[in-house]
Amino acid sequence: MSNLNLHADVCVVGGGPAGTLLGYLLAQNGVSTIIIERTSGVSREFRGEHINGDTEAILREHELFDKIEELGLLRMSKVEYFAGKDIVKTILPANDEDHVGIHVPQSNLLSAIIKESEQYNHFQILYNSTVTGLIEDDNGFYAGVHAIKDGQEIEITSKIIVGADGRYSTVRKHANILTEQRKHGYDVLWAKIPAPQGWEPTTRMVFVDGHQLALFTQTGGRIQIGWNIEEGAFPSLKKGDLQLFLEPLVNSFPELEDIVLRNIQSWKDFVCLKVVSSCSETWVKDGLVIIGDAAHTMTPTGAIGINCGLLDAHVLAPIVTRALLENNTSAQYLKQFEKNRKVRINEQQEMQIKKEESFSEIFTQLELV
Ligand SMILES: Cc1cc2nc3c(=O)[nH]c(=O)nc-3n(C[C@H](O)[C@H](O)[C@H](O)COP(=O)(O)OP(=O)(O)OC[C@H]3O[C@@H](n4cnc5c(N)ncnc54)[C@H](O)[C@@H]3O)c2cc1C
Repeated sequence: MSNLNLHADVCVVGGGPAGTLLGYLLAQNGVSTIIIERTSGVSREFRGEHINGDTEAILREHELFDKIEELGLLRMSKVEYFAGKDIVKTILPANDEDHVGIHVPQSNLLSAIIKESEQYNHFQILYNSTVTGLIEDDNGFYAGVHAIKDGQEIEITSKIIVGADGRYSTVRKHANILTEQRKHGYDVLWAKIPAPQGWEPTTRMVFVDGHQLALFTQTGGRIQIGWNIEEGAFPSLKKGDLQLFLEPLVNSFPELEDIVLRNIQSWKDFVCLKVVSSCSETWVKDGLVIIGDAAHTMTPTGAIGINCGLLDAHVLAPIVTRALLENNTSAQYLKQFEKNRKVRINEQQEMQIKKEESFSEIFTQLELV
């Protein structure tokens, strides 16, 4: 027996980028919405934090971009590809843009969206709350979730459940939606270091022993290192010499030598992300939808994961609003969301594979600048 029962038109599981934007857009449309988030707030270590021009346009359309900018973001002036110390290719902003991507800390993105959402009385976000199971009604429609909030059992009933709970989605699992994970032959080691004085806000890529090493300049004077390594190699790498491993990084960017050696003193300063991609067989059931990483996990290539999740929310919000107005929450009705987004996601996943297969080619083009 649950200790607390709540009700909303829509129950969004997961307060990441996809779930939070969806919650805001639904609340704006007058839909009562509860977001259930397992963590205690908006802090996230090592997540997708680069948005592209299309996502910027969506955030502007919903009058969120300026609010996020007030909290802090950073426009990237170019992407540079290095062979050793030499730049072999440079990507500059397109004619009508002033950046090649924008770094937005997830905490800034989420804080700004949640602050805007909280002006609506019919919006609520529950932190420290983990969904553990789904509720079905007599017709087999999903009708709510069981969760644990601060150690207490709670139950939230709703007309539609949205699983925006990331790559290991509990909602997807309990709705018996199959998903096949695809490996890509590499994992990524993440680390953060301070940027030196005068460090230009660019994204820098180097090719090291057959793998890509990326330096992403971040808001707040930080650099995020994303170092691709052979899949499953981290345990054996950790037994080796850290200084030797760091050599190619320092050789390509001698200006970072002191900072790297001061800030990466142990293998524990790296976090290993297992790279997988997936696309679930269906994204909808009666009374239920999955979005973002829960529906389709992308690889880090091209830094598009967060952009895909935000676009999902933008596309899904009007469909859910209409479904509620028309009192039709069937899988058949909700399928229009999947039809709209799945083809594009499949194309983007194919594009990621092609890029990963041709990493080495980019670095051997002799477009010296
Ligand atoms: C370590 C790491 C590094 C990454 N780096 C990059 C990158 O460099 N570039 C890039 O583009 N993408 C990257 N990604 C992917 C990117 O962060 C995601 O694509 C993006 O955040 C997806 O947004 P989302 O809202 O769908 O899911 P998420 O951001 O994963 O959000 C899901 C939310 O659901 C919550 N949740 C999960 N289970 C439950 C539950 N049972 N009950 C309640 N809440 C729950 C989680 O706490 C989380 O807040 C990375 C992901 C990870 C995990």
